[in-house]
Amino acid sequence: SEQPQLAPNLAQELLNLTSELAFEGLNALEFEKIKALISQDFKLEVLLDACISIIRIIISSISKERDTAQQFLLNVNETLTLLHQTLLDSVQRSKEVGHKMADLNKKIELKISQLSSETEEASTIDSLKMIVGQKLEALTLDIKFKEDLELSERESLANTLKEMQNKINSLENETSDYKERLAEQRFKSLQDTLTKLPNRAAYDERIALEFNTFNRSNHDLCLVVIDIDHFKSVNDTFGHSAGDKTLQVLANALKKSVRVTDFIARFGGEEFVIVMPNSDLKSIEAPLEKIRKTIKAIPFKFKNKNLRITISIGASQFKTNDSIVEVFDRADAALYEAKNSGRDRIILKK
Ligand code: GH3
Ligand code: MG
Ligand code: MG
Repeated sequence: SEQPQLAPNLAQELLNLTSELAFEGLNALEFEKIKALISQDFKLEVLLDACISIIRIIISSISKERDTAQQFLLNVNETLTLLHQTLLDSVQRSKEVGHKMADLNKKIELKISQLSSETEEASTIDSLKMIVGQKLEALTLDIKFKEDLELSERESLANTLKEMQNKINSLENETSDYKERLAEQRFKSLQDTLTKLPNRAAYDERIALEFNTFNRSNHDLCLVVIDIDHFKSVNDTFGHSAGDKTLQVLANALKKSVRVTDFIARFGGEEFVIVMPNSDLKSIEAPLEKIRKTIKAIPFKFKNKNLRITISIGASQFKTNDSIVEVFDRADAALYEAKNSGRDRIILKK
């Protein structure tokens, strides 16, 4: 058939296309997984799944980015509109003042020319004194008025400038807020610092996505809760940093044990959660059993003492009309049963 040749070509094309994409946080982790998968597995179903997953990642990144960008642009636009209006007002006021000035200048010129013609006609010193006195008074008033007008224009210009400066400042603040938000988004940790596994926030995001898919497609979806047995005694006997080290080793082993399509997170403390899409309870029993045995087989050595660590596992499967919390609670109840019936075991609960 043509399939064996077609699929590697498609995989290559997909890899080429993805080389232009970059994501942050959980999306970046997820994206790397997909890239690793499509560079190994050339099955058409795998490639189709990869395409859908990539599109989902793109949509989730875009919608987050779009919300922030939209708000930012709205604010910038509002400020720019205000600035524009302020500028228009100021230009209008200057024009009006300019007209008033021209009128005043004409009036002053007229008075001066009147003064010279009237002084020529004056016949006595007294009448000359009177004419000059009256005209000077009127001229002084006009000049004073002109000065006031100039002063108020200067003041109003200064105010306008101040107003515009304030608006520009607020625009600058807005921009730096936006930059901060972008940086926050980039660094908002979806990764647990101790184990480098996705953290609880990452789990919340992921389970919401998988839950949507489950509701749309009715593909099987399982949720697994893992808790380390008697972990407190590791801390108590060997110290907290030995406990931390143990958590790191266990997290690494767990990460390696799950399938590439599974999602594992540190839910908190010594508890982990695995989201297993496209699986029913029956089909996850064997892989979970393998995980349980893998963990039990790790040889720990603290203070020259050999130590085996075991885990208890509870799991449940999503049913129609289930909420995420309901399924989690069922898996958690299964875990509780596993603990109560002796630990180091798996309980599946429909
Ligand atoms: P069980 O088998 O019933 O689960 O017993 P347990 O001792 O594991 O359970 P318990 O809930 O009593 O104790 C959990 C312990 O895990 C307590 C806490 O000190 C430890 N722990 C949780 N988070 C960390 C961590 O980040 N580092 C270390 N070193 N210990 C942690
Ligand atoms: Mg616990
Ligand atoms: Mg425990």
